[in-house]
Amino acid sequence: MVLRVYNTLTRQMEDFTPLHDGKVNMYVCGPTVYDHCHLGHARSYISFDVIRRYLAYRGYDVRYVSNITDVDDKIIDRAKETGENPFELSSRFTLSFIEDMDKLNVQRPDVQPRVTEHIPEIIETIKVLIDKKLAYATPEGNVYYDLTRSLDLVGVLSRQTIDGLLEGSGSRVDVEKDKKYQLDFVLWKISPEDEPGWESPWGRGRPGWHIECSVMSVKHGSEQLDIHGGGADLIFPHHEAEIMQSEGYTGINPFSKYWLHNGFLTIDHEKMSKSKGNFFTIKQVLEEFPSEVIRFFMLNTHYRNTIDFSEKHLEEAGRAYERIANTISNIKYAIQNAPENGDDFCLSEEVNQARDSFIVSMDEDFNTREALADLFVFARKVNALISESNPGKIALEEVLTFFSEIDQVLGVFSEGPATCEEIPGGASDEDVESMIQQREDARKARDWDLADAIRDELKEKGIIIEDSKDGVRWRRA
Ligand code: AMP
Ligand code: ZN
Repeated sequence: MVLRVYNTLTRQMEDFTPLHDGKVNMYVCGPTVYDHCHLGHARSYISFDVIRRYLAYRGYDVRYVSNITDVDDKIIDRAKETGENPFELSSRFTLSFIEDMDKLNVQRPDVQPRVTEHIPEIIETIKVLIDKKLAYATPEGNVYYDLTRSLDLVGVLSRQTIDGLLEGSGSRVDVEKDKKYQLDFVLWKISPEDEPGWESPWGRGRPGWHIECSVMSVKHGSEQLDIHGGGADLIFPHHEAEIMQSEGYTGINPFSKYWLHNGFLTIDHEKMSKSKGNFFTIKQVLEEFPSEVIRFFMLNTHYRNTIDFSEKHLEEAGRAYERIANTISNIKYAIQNAPENGDDFCLSEEVNQARDSFIVSMDEDFNTREALADLFVFARKVNALISESNPGKIALEEVLTFFSEIDQVLGVFSEGPATCEEIPGGASDEDVESMIQQREDARKARDWDLADAIRDELKEKGIIIEDSKDGVRWRRA
């Protein structure tokens, strides 16, 4: 089986063959830290986390670099509003971002470089671009990339034409007046006295947004990447600018062999973003929903498709999540009383088939949606086998091992159903045990109404109880 990925560069599905056997150099654009991150950011980083984990699952040695933009106009503007020092503000939100990612079980990058720690390297790179006549400094102290030197690269990712760009220029294109050409983009910009700045050959200033990724990917990743990732909004101008800068600097083409872009998380079909104000922070959502459910919700859509966010959709994801988590719980329960070898029938074969389906789905551009759909089918079969036959410990343990194996990629089941209490309307194992005890007490006291009421309440929470000669058994529906 061959892993295939959708490459924005070619607009095609392609077989994935890294530049160096067995190794993958991956760079993903990190956040601009001027506030707590929202769920749209979570979408991007969960997508690339799963891509990274799957590549590792497939045996690749993955190096994952993702930056932190900790100096930027938005940070400076926000610091002016709050009266805070911009560096303190950005450190605060960097920590907030790392904390959110940890909670969402997003593995930390191998390197997470910050712009403010790379100013000398950025200045050196800009000097090389000027020496190569790919960039120019203006008397005002700004440095621009000379787009007329890279016209062949215009539209390489975005498929836009120069005419189209000139007509539509405005959004995310700099409008400074000292440029030679309207579409030139800034590499270094002069800082006013009261704003952060660093001394440079062109005066006191700070880097433009695009240059940091070219510099940090070379320094911490490689001069040529296997995968470059980010949200679809970064395709233009950010990623095209990165291509021009990086290829101009290293002389190596292509800068990245594969370009992967995640689709948007929307609210009412509009992209969730800070500037529109239509966002929920990751922290807000984590107050209401367990992180496993948020991850599961994201993975239930292919990473390139749009997800429309609503509380209702998250609740639905919670219920779907619980179905698989309950299967894991059922297996754990069944193992306790299972014989070493039982009527295993085809459980082992089912596991092998489930593994094959998982790989087939994930090999098709990391199709987590299909992978989860297959997992539901598998979970249903396992539930049926447990309730209808008498599988042995060895076979059941094989199923559990399979769930942990694929969870190295999905990262949603490691805590198992212990988190069910956090799902609205859910019940933890301890809650269930305690309610069953109350029902037993009611039965002993011949309070049949109360016993029935407790049974009904458990049923509403998706808990089925069975009275057997060995006592009460329960499972999740
Ligand atoms: P920013 O801090 O805005 O540069 O965003 C950091 C990363 O999150 C980029 O790759 C963005 O494309 C991505 N991102 C931001 N908002 C969303 C969203 N609503 N849906 C998906 N990805 C997003
Ligand atoms: Zn970037």
